[in-house]
Amino acid sequence: MLVVKKFGGTSVANKERIFNVARRCIEDYQKGNDVIIVLSAMGDTTDALLEKARDINPNASKRELDMLLTTGEQVSVSLMAMALHSLNVPAISLNAFQVQMHTTSRNGNARFKRIDSDRIRHELENRKIVIVTGFQGVNKYDDYTTLGRGGSDTTAVALAAALHADRCEIFTDVEGVFTADPRVVKNARKIEEITYDEMLELATSGARVLHNRSVEMAKKYGVELVVRSSMNTEEGTVVKEVVKVEKMLITGVAADKNTARVSVIGVEDRPGIAFKIFNTLAKNNINVDIILQSVGRGGTKDISFTVSEDDLDDTLRLMEENKEALTIKEIAHNENVAKISIVGAGMLSNPGVAATMFEALCNSNINISMISTSEIRITVLIDEKDADKALVAVHDGFGLED
Ligand code: ADP
Ligand code: ASP
Ligand code: MG
Repeated sequence: MLVVKKFGGTSVANKERIFNVARRCIEDYQKGNDVIIVLSAMGDTTDALLEKARDINPNASKRELDMLLTTGEQVSVSLMAMALHSLNVPAISLNAFQVQMHTTSRNGNARFKRIDSDRIRHELENRKIVIVTGFQGVNKYDDYTTLGRGGSDTTAVALAAALHADRCEIFTDVEGVFTADPRVVKNARKIEEITYDEMLELATSGARVLHNRSVEMAKKYGVELVVRSSMNTEEGTVVKEVVKVEKMLITGVAADKNTARVSVIGVEDRPGIAFKIFNTLAKNNINVDIILQSVGRGGTKDISFTVSEDDLDDTLRLMEENKEALTIKEIAHNENVAKISIVGAGMLSNPGVAATMFEALCNSNINISMISTSEIRITVLIDEKDADKALVAVHDGFGLED
């Protein structure tokens, strides 16, 4: 059996935890399994590296940032190999260049295109545990790329898909996927099984327990995922296509504070303007989320939309540069906003879900400034300072507590 086991930063934060992971993996290995380990950078290494970069140059190029950030994962994998060697288990660490994990060229937000499996297979055939750097790839210029924050999950799924692994386990610092972030909502409940679609919506809505691309890829290639704790042997959460019938109306609640609202005010109220605005953003790879357009008055209208905070500067620059062409009179923005989302296939067949959510927010005196929905998700935009309170209120409002 081939197993892929991914461990996040907290799970390899120090010597003791590195050995804890090593021992867990040896257990699998000694059962005769082929074992691939995917690791993130230790503890808050990635944040610390970003801080260092900012200190030297606040406008560092994305290529050089990736060159820097990829070192974090390289530290973890080499130390893990050394730990395994000290326990007399054959192991080898490989980075994305050595494996040849090809991605698109976009630094900071690359996507996997192709993974060569030859080197890994060769090492596995020699009965080595193979330890691979998460989060990184190489592009067509032979430069390092990274997959976006939290991207090591995606490395694990990509390897599981490429090598047709029998099991893909994501070990983290909580016992699985919960009905809300267990650090914020103390009575959140662990979910036994969740569908790819629901997990994808939750991950995209701010539940950072899984990188959203990892879920997208798991669905595409039918890789069943188990999310579980690296600190104990509890069962965890299974992410798959179809789950046993769930009685819950809503599967989970998520908050995303990494969001900003931009308003373009006084644009001409005629066909083509919205197209031009959003096309300008799309051409620059800026993902727009909730969109709200005011009713036209006196030949003009206002359009508000949300973007990731990481894209705010680029968005404002693009709107400013194209102010005339886009007929914008004024540009406003607000970073102190957050999105609260409820996710669940149950809402497909149950009216009144939105009302329950809004009632919970109203009872906590939280104002909603924008709303958007998908088939299985409802998202509202609120003040960032209310985010934690809103998460608890909505979670309780649907009776999701343990
Ligand atoms: P890792 O370093 O292992 O990848 P992350 O920090 O990326 O770990 O993800 C785990 C964290 O995700 C948890 O510590 C938890 O605070 C947070 N989280 C947010 N939403 C959820 C949720 N619905 N279920 C579980 N954890 C969640
Ligand atoms: N080390 C990277 C990050 O902090 C990737 C990951 O943890 O998955 O975002
Ligand atoms: Mg993560």
